[in-house]
Amino acid sequence: MAISRKCAKCKVWTESLSHCSECGEVLDHELIQAKREQERKEYQESLPPSKLDVFFHEFKNSRFLLIRVFYRLLYSIWFIMFSIVSFFIALIAAGPG
Ligand SMILES: [Zn+2]
Repeated sequence: MAISRKCAKCKVWTESLSHCSECGEVLDHELIQAKREQERKEYQESLPPSKLDVFFHEFKNSRFLLIRVFYRLLYSIWFIMFSIVSFFIALIAAGPG
């Protein structure tokens, strides 16, 4: 028994599993997901960077060595603190299970 799908756009049943034979609409779920993912990526790339991102970028790539060292120091402290917190969260999550 052949599998057929109904096109959501033109409401015609078609034997093809990937595209509608009447209007060419994509019917395959994986192709639809890939198309949505591509559209989402293009939308996010089209957005301007936030002010916080611009600030961190300038902070990180400052022409003053002292500011770059200060950025690295804060980033290291942040990274170590969240590593410790993540470890304890994983420990708590592993306990009951
Ligand atoms: Zn169709």
